[in-house]
Amino acid sequence: MLCISVEEFSFWKKKQLSKGGDEQSFAVLLDCVGGLSTSDLNLKIINPRETLHLKKNLEFLESVWDDHLLKSSPIQYLCGKAFWRDLKLIVTNKVLIPRPETELVVDIVFKIFRRKSEKLFFAELGTGSGAISIALALAYPLSKGVVTDIDQDALEIATKNYTNSSKQSNLKFYCGNWWSPLENFKGKLDLAVSNPPYIPRDTYEKLPKEVKNFEPKVALLGGEDGLEHIREIIQKAPFFLKEKGWLILENHFDQGEKVKQLLIKNKFTSIEIVNDLSGIGRFTIGRYK
Ligand code: GLN
Repeated sequence: MLCISVEEFSFWKKKQLSKGGDEQSFAVLLDCVGGLSTSDLNLKIINPRETLHLKKNLEFLESVWDDHLLKSSPIQYLCGKAFWRDLKLIVTNKVLIPRPETELVVDIVFKIFRRKSEKLFFAELGTGSGAISIALALAYPLSKGVVTDIDQDALEIATKNYTNSSKQSNLKFYCGNWWSPLENFKGKLDLAVSNPPYIPRDTYEKLPKEVKNFEPKVALLGGEDGLEHIREIIQKAPFFLKEKGWLILENHFDQGEKVKQLLIKNKFTSIEIVNDLSGIGRFTIGRYK
């Protein structure tokens, strides 16, 4: 444990940020490695005579920060944690770092199913760290969710994140490709959500190195046109959703119209392209018949 004055800390922090990186990543480092949350820091930082407590010394924190800057390694992987909505999730390079825009998937569900006492039966396909399912399981405690991922390591991380975030037992995890582990639940789902890999191949090749060199390809690449997995999910959805059941998909910035056409072709109704906070048609939703 290191005790340090706010004055000394602020000087050090400024020096670190002058080397590069952003405030948000630095906050992840301070919280997840230093044990100093942003809210604690904000409370104390106004008084230069206050003392801050850090779990690690400045040299150690600095070495992690330098690693992040030098190798373009995402700070979440170096710290093993990511913040998403109100969750603190374990992440390794086996799972995609959950993105802020994906937080809106949960808000879309909140708009469709307004009562938190709803007894939904939902599925998440390709869960990664478990972020979306865990948020839904916590928000709708009387619901049940079935969660799939093709990667056993990812599924173990999602399961750990669930047990760390909740004392509930309303999620079940299955290893397998998209719908395949869910054969027993055909025609039973009120809702299915997915943030599948949707990056087209040529875009994938040009992704920034902090994404391409570190995050799992299997969670990003959506085949030649980016729609390979979205197509499969939509084509099989009618077998698994209840009549009037909802499908909510995240897609690439320019795929909304194409996903809409796929939904129409597969007899979905109430189709809508929903914008993210940057005004991008990031989600496409519809109900089966
Ligand atoms: N939004 C992610 C990115 O831009 C991609 C996530 C995905 O393919 N599902 O890196």
